[in-house]
Amino acid sequence: MLDKIVIANRGEIALRILRACREMDIKTVAVHSTADNNLKHVLLADETVCIGPPQSTESYLNMPAIISAAEVTDATGIHPGYGFLSENADFAERVESSGFTFIGPKADAIRMMGDKVSAIRAMKAAGVPTVPGSDGPLGDDADENLRLARDIGYPIIIKAAAGGGGRGMRVVHSEASLTAAITVTKAEARAGFGSDVVYMEKFLEKPRHVEFQLLADTHGNAIHLGERDCSMQRRHQKVIEEAPAPGISEEQRNEIGARCVKACLEMGYRSAGTFEFLYEDGEFYFIEMNTRLQVEHPVTEMITGVDIVREQLRIASGEPLSIRQEDVKLQGHAIECRINAEDPKTFMPSPGMVTLWHSPGGPGIRMESHVYSGYKVPPYYDSMIGKLIAHGEDRDAAFARMKNALTEIVIEGIKTNVPLHQEIFQHAAFKEGGTDIHYLEKRLGLV
Ligand code: ADP
Repeated sequence: MLDKIVIANRGEIALRILRACREMDIKTVAVHSTADNNLKHVLLADETVCIGPPQSTESYLNMPAIISAAEVTDATGIHPGYGFLSENADFAERVESSGFTFIGPKADAIRMMGDKVSAIRAMKAAGVPTVPGSDGPLGDDADENLRLARDIGYPIIIKAAAGGGGRGMRVVHSEASLTAAITVTKAEARAGFGSDVVYMEKFLEKPRHVEFQLLADTHGNAIHLGERDCSMQRRHQKVIEEAPAPGISEEQRNEIGARCVKACLEMGYRSAGTFEFLYEDGEFYFIEMNTRLQVEHPVTEMITGVDIVREQLRIASGEPLSIRQEDVKLQGHAIECRINAEDPKTFMPSPGMVTLWHSPGGPGIRMESHVYSGYKVPPYYDSMIGKLIAHGEDRDAAFARMKNALTEIVIEGIKTNVPLHQEIFQHAAFKEGGTDIHYLEKRLGLV
């Protein structure tokens, strides 16, 4: 088993990883910026190393500083968490070539999934359903592109193969604007991602975002832990997630899950990974794979009883998965609300001193947060300061627990989006379940 690891992240996820390590008797090294001396996991870690100034580019994205921290502390592995360097294939490669274990997939897998064209090809080969599209990069022949789009049927979406974070995409509604849209998206992709490879897909108008959680070890075992629905989004950012996804039959879960498992085995994938799908009119369409731990992993943990971070640490230590597919049983329903330090109406970030922090509790309530009374939220990073998770025997029970927990939570000194969550939990359509990815923005009058 790994005996000491560097946690190359901050905030709630760094604390989550630290807790898993402590349960497993793995020593921890917290690397942090000068703005993060008072992070909870930094205070709890066995060792700490300051790796640079507040700006992420100088600290949490500073590869040599992080690898040096592993060297000076004699750590054996590095956990990247999510965001920052977690999906950077070059980092994974440098970590391993420096003699450390990257607690995640191999660099090749990150690279292949980072290129959406190669990811889609690998999925098709494994029988994972994809969005009808160009099945490869678009060439320069305008007539050929027009023919492709006509075959797929408008509206279509042009996407950059190297795109990410909801950027590098353009929807086209009619033939007249296709050629110009391809030219502009290519230019943007070249400027933004260093590659002008673009492809074409059918644009789905009212999809839900449904994703599958996978785990694979280095002994040829892979399993899926069912799906999550993350359709409640604003600007492509997830706001609320739940598991299982409302209305998905066990048969369909097993079928899509098995195809994702097959894809993992065929590409020799290891560690945790997520297959993201758009789901419309009862059909799944793969859009991309995230080769890392996800923010919303707790809802899956609550309904399966599997500790995903623990499994990642075991896999990275060369251990086999601790459970088999037939032992995975979904129990009840879980919902997660992302708590952000932001104005609930304008969405402007609201950093500053948290003068009072009180977590809700009771049966089925889980709070993942690094915040405490007297903690100062720095202005330099993502505004998410915690995640509130409610588990119940069914969706209604989880819903009722969350609603209650949202009235119990107290955060003073800064603004948060708790009032927004309280409002969403009054919506009849959300209570019903199965709202699409545009629901929240429409409801907020943002589109
Ligand atoms: P990124 O890597 O930038 O997150 P994705 O491929 O995951 O890009 O797409 C981001 C979002 O864009 C999706 O969650 C969805 O809202 C929208 N989107 C992408 N492809 C399609 C499509 N074919 N039809 C409709 N919406 C799409």
